[in-house]
Amino acid sequence: GTPAADTYPRKILEYMEGFLISKTVFSACELGVFDVLLASERPLSAEEVSQAVGASLDGTQRLLAACTGLQLLNTHQDDGRVCYSNTEQASVYLTRSSPLSLYQSIQYSSRTIYLCWHYLTDAVREGRNQYEKAFGVSSNDLFQALYRSDEEMVKFMQLMNSIWNICGKDVVTAFDLSPFNIICDLGGCSGALAKQCTSAYPECTVTIFDLPNVVHMSKKHFVTAADERISFREGDFFKDPLPEADLYILARILHDWTDERCIELLSSVYKACKPGGGVLLVEALLHEDGSGPLTVQLYSLNMLVQTEGRERTAAQYAALLDAAGFSAAQHRLTGKIYDAVLGRKET
Ligand code: SAM
Repeated sequence: GTPAADTYPRKILEYMEGFLISKTVFSACELGVFDVLLASERPLSAEEVSQAVGASLDGTQRLLAACTGLQLLNTHQDDGRVCYSNTEQASVYLTRSSPLSLYQSIQYSSRTIYLCWHYLTDAVREGRNQYEKAFGVSSNDLFQALYRSDEEMVKFMQLMNSIWNICGKDVVTAFDLSPFNIICDLGGCSGALAKQCTSAYPECTVTIFDLPNVVHMSKKHFVTAADERISFREGDFFKDPLPEADLYILARILHDWTDERCIELLSSVYKACKPGGGVLLVEALLHEDGSGPLTVQLYSLNMLVQTEGRERTAAQYAALLDAAGFSAAQHRLTGKIYDAVLGRKET
């Protein structure tokens, strides 16, 4: 643009203050503002909301005003008083009880990810995750650090769970998986993606392979015995033999690990895989030229702060698959956060 147009640094100011927006949403969720407004049959005044959530009137007034500016709340005039109600999006995604709720993800962002990002500069300087500084736990064993208590484990599982209600169907239907009847979801966690598979493909059965404690929690909180086509297998995918299957799904697994560990894991998948079978990687893909998408570039920084891995391009995933013996890797973009890469084991 012209020099004059560049004298007001709109973007930079927005970036500088981006975290104010995140924190406003985190606090409104944590206080239960959207839940209180959902439960009410009419718009509520700031005073009524402050009483219902147990917060100061002054603080609540400012929070409600900011949520209105963010287009998460609507305002109504009632006898000279301002009253508030949820926008449609706030009702669907920010209330605890909604089937599409992002409440648990927001909670995890607020309580865990935000604290790690406090040390982003250190993470970049050192090239490693910041668990020790953020939480005082050693990160030698990544998932021991992530699962530092039962409560943290359930919170992490809820985080993993919630996104598949929103884009799980897209990733399991990006390729036609109907030729694969026996599916193993490695690191299948809470079973949300396994449920998407069984509903998209009526013939398939899915075995969720995960660490013993995760399987235990998954059975207790997420997968009921009524899900007859979903079963579990406990183990460590770096050490234990993997169940035989036609298709292995690795959703958000490889992005946790270095190239070396990815090839190690994919090589044991290749060994267990039936000839003619395949492996489906579900990940957020970077553009080949590194130009985007911004969300995935930011996720890659998040992987630096929180894990041993990174986000990768489709070609980088194809190279990992190739190194483990799989061939003909193809990828499909879904237009949402997560994409799919399919590799095949030749017959
Ligand atoms: N696939 C799920 C999804 O996309 O929602 C969960 C992804 S989560 C980032 C990584 C999963 O790998 C967790 O469920 C974790 O318990 C599991 N995991 C990590 N290390 C493992 C290991 N050594 N053996 C088996 N599972 C492991």
